[in-house]
Amino acid sequence: MIQDIAPLQLNNAYRNKIPSEDSYILAFQENRIFLKAGEEITYLSYGEFKAACRKEQKELPECIYLFSIDTEDYFLADFWENCEISGFGWHKMFAVRTMRPREKVFTAATAWHLYGWYRDNRFCGRCGEKLIHSREMRMLQCPCCKNQVFPKIAPAVIVGVTDGEKILMTKYANREYKRYALIAGFTEIGETAEETVKREVEEEVGLHVKNIRYYKSQPWGFDSNLLLGYFCELEEHEAIHLDENELSLAEWVDYRDIPDDSEGLSLTREMMFFFREEQNKKQKNIDSQNN
Ligand SMILES: [Zn+2]
Repeated sequence: MIQDIAPLQLNNAYRNKIPSEDSYILAFQENRIFLKAGEEITYLSYGEFKAACRKEQKELPECIYLFSIDTEDYFLADFWENCEISGFGWHKMFAVRTMRPREKVFTAATAWHLYGWYRDNRFCGRCGEKLIHSREMRMLQCPCCKNQVFPKIAPAVIVGVTDGEKILMTKYANREYKRYALIAGFTEIGETAEETVKREVEEEVGLHVKNIRYYKSQPWGFDSNLLLGYFCELEEHEAIHLDENELSLAEWVDYRDIPDDSEGLSLTREMMFFFREEQNKKQKNIDSQNN
């Protein structure tokens, strides 16, 4: 999955640091990120960034420390729109998903999540004063009313609804993502993740489920989410009633027909393949007992 970057390690504890020449600078505009695309993603070093600022006679913008991956530090900065640095350019965040290597895709998604939070929290939501970054932690504080603003992460569930050898697969309506997905939705205030599972399945396909089991979680910075994966079983056989605002398709797919198009990034796909492998093992056991 996107976060599986071992032996590399993400260190996301906030530190009050300034960039060095070989630190990396990440910049975003609307839904785009500044990078050099090729065989592999290249990010701009602080040294290159400083040289570009000098050449364009631009003042060096403020750089906010994001995180490090092993010994490489990453910082966030504001670039000017027509920033020209040989080979680098603005790329849609959606396109980054299919780029390589995985740790650089994870870097982009995590930085994008932080960028969105900083962009949307310049002023205090309580009194309107400009917020100031804490020196000790990732927190913005209001100097006037002392309001503390912490990073915003939206928990959401991914649900593998199964019925014997079949799993319920869906396709989203009106989204850029066109491949098979699983039922998914945000946790509402006041409910447990397990209750979200039940509610989302009922809302999206009109089915009732039981035996809800936690699988794994995944940080998904593209949408500011923490995804919680669950499997559950169909309680009784009922017809699917599709919520057409959310989904364009929901159908039962036999484990043998799960399409083999793993991008190795998402929890959704890992759950589909996990189900397929589990069913394969079961089938092999049955076959060996019959022989
Ligand atoms: Zn305030």
